[in-house]
Amino acid sequence: MDLRIDETAAQWQRRARAFTETMLYPVEETLELQGALPPETLARLRRAVVEAGLNAINHRIEDGGKGLSQLEQVVVNEEVGRATGALWAVLWHPPLPLRYGTPRQRADYLQPSCRGERRAAYAITEPDAGSDPSRVRTRADFARGKFVLSGEKWFVTTGDQADYLLVHAHVDADPGKPTLFIVDKDLPGVRVTRVPKFMHTYVYEHPEFVFDRVELESWRVLGDVGQGLELTKEWFVEARLQIAANCLGAAIRAAQIAERWSNERVQFGRAIREFQAIEFMLADMAVEIMAHKTLLYRVAWEIDQGLDRKLVHARASAVKLFGSEMAGRVIDKALQILGGRGYMRENPVERLYRDIRVDRIWEGTSEIQRAIIGGQIRKRGMETYTGWV
Ligand SMILES: Cc1cc2nc3c(=O)[nH]c(=O)nc-3n(C[C@H](O)[C@H](O)[C@H](O)COP(=O)(O)OP(=O)(O)OC[C@H]3O[C@@H](n4cnc5c(N)ncnc54)[C@H](O)[C@@H]3O)c2cc1C
Repeated sequence: MDLRIDETAAQWQRRARAFTETMLYPVEETLELQGALPPETLARLRRAVVEAGLNAINHRIEDGGKGLSQLEQVVVNEEVGRATGALWAVLWHPPLPLRYGTPRQRADYLQPSCRGERRAAYAITEPDAGSDPSRVRTRADFARGKFVLSGEKWFVTTGDQADYLLVHAHVDADPGKPTLFIVDKDLPGVRVTRVPKFMHTYVYEHPEFVFDRVELESWRVLGDVGQGLELTKEWFVEARLQIAANCLGAAIRAAQIAERWSNERVQFGRAIREFQAIEFMLADMAVEIMAHKTLLYRVAWEIDQGLDRKLVHARASAVKLFGSEMAGRVIDKALQILGGRGYMRENPVERLYRDIRVDRIWEGTSEIQRAIIGGQIRKRGMETYTGWV
């Protein structure tokens, strides 16, 4: 068993760390205090992503991506996950299902998205459909050679920056025909209705959209009619691993800040780390991070070795569940060690504390991950998680 990271992955790690420290950390406070970054800063970051070669790390080289292995993607996402304000999102990962697009869809959408000239957002959730996508009401009725799309989507992350959306809709209102459509935002009938504010400061927005009888030509179907859930599942796997990696980076940064502070802060005549109450918190944080890192790197490595798709799905849930909950526990302890200073917005730990809360909600809540894991244990046995294959 060789658990070392090879030199290529280590190079990506160093590159992403340098990008995080030189490009992302310097804009964190502006983002927090102003609630958004000026357009010229966003444009500068976009150029810097391309210069650093960190664009579309999730796509094949022939589609304009960087063709990174899963483990390489994980180490990059871990490094950028240290930044607050979800600044990791300035690196774009065009949705994975686009790779199954037709040559026209790949040329017009995927390839410019890999270059950073276009940007997609993924729209599944609706007022009545969250954890249960079968309740989606957005419908695409087929008539006279075209689809007519009507409905509403909520929480469309990066929907403000995107120029097109992947919209999950039911063809002819049939839940048996979940389908993904490529929908340009400037098509007649597409409207943003609200841009709500959330607990975290996120570098972009999560707007709500309405589709009012939007006419879609047939070529806008991604994959086949009825294939929407299958394609989205693939996106979930990728997003869950990304979240798990971002959470790892966030927890490490918070732990490092807390440990440094525990050396500097003197109360009752000694550095607070000399109080066992503080040292035990640091010990628990270190062990939790180690456990998650080991799990995440293992699963990423297994995926690179060609792990069966069903097992990939099963294990991505475990990694997302553990990573997001671990980050919550670790960052909470880091904040406690910092005392009142940890509660100040100027402190990255305060921001990380708010930033990572959503990781237990989006891309499947913790309860949904547990339901998936429970179902896998029922179907495939406990060995799926406790074994070593
Ligand atoms: C900031 C943010 C960004 C988001 N970005 C996107 C995006 O880009 N695209 C997109 O499509 N969606 C997005 N979402 C939506 C997100 O995926 C949903 O919020 C999430 O799937 C949960 O759905 P819900 O909020 O409707 O909660 P619900 O499904 O209503 O769940 C409410 C509670 O019930 C629990 N619950 C539900 N079903 C079960 C069950 N079977 N067993 C046990 N407990 C259950 C849940 O775990 C939760 O605790 C985003 C959400 C947020 C907050």
